Formats: sequence, C-alpha cells, structure tokens
Amino acid sequence: MKSKKHRYCIFYIFFCILLISNVALSQSSTEKFDKVVIDAGHGGIKPGAIGSHSKEKDITLAVALKVGQLINENLKSVKVYYTRVIDQDVDLYKRSTVANKINADLFISIHCNSSTAKNSMGTETFAMGLAKTNQNLAVAKKENSEILTEANRELNYQGFDLNSPENDILLSLYQNAYLSNSLEFANMIQKEYIKNTSMKSRGVKQANLVVLWKSSMPAVLTEIGFISNSQEEAYISSDIGQWTIASSIFRAIIEYKNKSDNMSLPVPEINSLIPKDVLEKERIRKENERLANIKEQQQLAEEKRQRELQEQEEQQQRQEETKDESAEVIYRVQFSSSLKQISISDNRFNGLEDMYSYQENGKWKYASGLFATQSEALEYLKKVKETYNDAFVVAFYKGKRISIVEAKRLSNKKTES
Ligand SMILES: [Zn+2]
Repeated sequence: MKSKKHRYCIFYIFFCILLISNVALSQSSTEKFDKVVIDAGHGGIKPGAIGSHSKEKDITLAVALKVGQLINENLKSVKVYYTRVIDQDVDLYKRSTVANKINADLFISIHCNSSTAKNSMGTETFAMGLAKTNQNLAVAKKENSEILTEANRELNYQGFDLNSPENDILLSLYQNAYLSNSLEFANMIQKEYIKNTSMKSRGVKQANLVVLWKSSMPAVLTEIGFISNSQEEAYISSDIGQWTIASSIFRAIIEYKNKSDNMSLPVPEINSLIPKDVLEKERIRKENERLANIKEQQQLAEEKRQRELQEQEEQQQRQEETKDESAEVIYRVQFSSSLKQISISDNRFNGLEDMYSYQENGKWKYASGLFATQSEALEYLKKVKETYNDAFVVAFYKGKRISIVEAKRLSNKKTES
C-alpha cells in the first residue's frame, strides 16, 4: 500500500514537471489566440443521448457548424477546425489529438444532457477535474461511456477504467496546467447562456471527461440543454435555439480572445449574429403564440360570463318561484337599462342592495331593493336618486312586472281578504 502511494507521488512530480515545461514551450511559441477546435459530440453509430424526436449527435453537429460559421464570418483572425463536419463516428481520443497536432488555443466540445428525470433542465459547462458531486460524475460516465465501443481501447486510453477512482486522479492531473483558463472560458460561456437564453444555468463544473483529457490547451465540454426535457429538446432542435446557443458560444470566444491577447474586439449583439430569416420566423412564432394566448383567455372569460349568467338566471328563477308561492306584490327601484346583459354582480352595481335584472321589450332592466310596500320603496328611491336621477319605483307580482295601479289594487284586495 505504502509503495503504491510512493509510486504515485513520484509519478505526480514527474508529471507536473512535464506539464510545466510543456506550458512554457507552448506559451513562447504561441503568441496569439488564433486556432479553435470545435468538437461536435458523438456521431455516426454513436448517437449520444436520444430525445423524443431528435438525437444528440445531430444537434451537436448543427450547433458546432454554426459556431464555426460565426467565427469564419465575424472573427477572421481565428481559424476554425472541426473534429467532424458530417455524421461520422470519431473516437474520443482522436478528438483531442486533432487539437494537439495543430497546437490549438481552445478546444470546445458540444454536447446535450439527458436524464431519466424528465424535468431536469438547464445548461452547464465542464472543465477537467475531479467530479465534486454525483451528478457531475454521472455526466462524465455518460459522456465517457463511448470508449466502451471503441476498438483498441487498452492502447488508446492506457487501460482507462470508467469506474476506478485512481484513474480519476490521474486523469485530472493532465489538464491541471490549463485548468484556470478552462474554467474562465467555461464561465464566459455560462454567462452568455444566462444573458441570451431563458434556460436555467446549472453553472460551471468539473469532471474527468475523456474527450478533454489529453488536450494540451484550455478545453471545455458544454452541455447545451437536456434532450430528455421536451421543452429544451424543442429549443435545442430549433433554428432559433441553435443559433442563440452558437452565438452565445461565439461571443464567449471573442471575450476569451480579448482576455488572452489583451485586445478589445467588439462583442457583437446577439441578434446581429442570428440570421434575419431565423429571427423573423421566431418573431412570427411568438406573435402566433401571443394571439393564441389571448384567444384562449377570451374564451375562458366568455365561458365564465356564460356560467355567471346561467347561475343568475337560475337564482332569479328560484326567487320568482318563492315569490309565486307567497304571491305577494313586491316593489323595487328601477334605475337603469341596457341592450346587452350586465351581470348583477358587476362592479358598477356596488353599493346597491338586492340587485335584480329582468328582460322587457328586448332590453335588460336593472332594479334594486325588495319592499313589501310602495312607501318603503319610495323612501329607498330617494337614496338611489342620489346616483341615478331617473330612477323610479316598479312593482312585480308573481315575478312579472305590473303597473303601480295594478299593484295597489292587488295589495288592497289582499288586505280586504
Ligand atoms: Zn454527449
């Protein structure tokens, strides 16, 4: 046990010396940030994570090509290299080999996340390092598992074991020299996602990712959203989603170049980077969504109004039935009318007692108060007239409007009997 520890210690020191000398060399030979490798995750027979209608390998390629296009068109001093430009299987180790061969200044691997929990969502960007949480470890295991299907695994990954913690430590040592720059760039990407998309940011993380392992330059793996979440799958499969993500990564590249080369190149507005027809399509989609929303709200309001009217009618019906039973003459104060029915619970009628509405000659009439005698109604009329000058007393018998003369006759008859 002791000798094993000792062996690791010597290995570690040797390793650090190797790395420091490497960095010193690369810094003196590379003065400018001018080469970027864009790596579209998975490909060919390795589809990566599968969504309900899309595959990770297709989304990562589409976004990778868009990032490259943005650099070619807007940042001509930087040369773009891809690990693949078609639907093709590329072994993980070859991806960083490409970057090392050309002495690239930055390596960006683009991936989509997935989870069995359908509500998992958000973006996150990884640099090499020991995974601090099980969640980060799970992402690494998922992205690393590709090597299981690769030929010559023993040779290309020196016996790398997906489940060995010792391997984990060795893996993380490789990228240590570039860690702070990798983390800095990862941070720039996440900040851009926050600024430009409505996706939740899961932040900058570390995990031992084989695809970043041997790259001799700052390197990140960015998870642009969950393909297993239907909302995010729709977004990262759409033109607007892919262009927004690609533009965010591109803006982060300019910021990083500015920092590395001590420059102050302007960082273009996100909307100036997205093609006009894509923006227009998105504008129309949003407008249609807004109109559909309004229509739905109107429908709901209309349904509510209909329900209220029905309840009101039923209530009146009940009132009339009760009145029929008692067969009394009642008096109310009528103060307003309208062509279209207004609910008696409408705010306009606030402060009026015993609101009542009925239809007569094609018009809706509104009355307030409920009195057994005309004199009581006349007393109440004074109060109503303070607001409604034209208010007057009306009489009802068995739920029907009758004239005051008729009301008096019926009242007298009742008193007599
Ligand atoms: Zn992936």
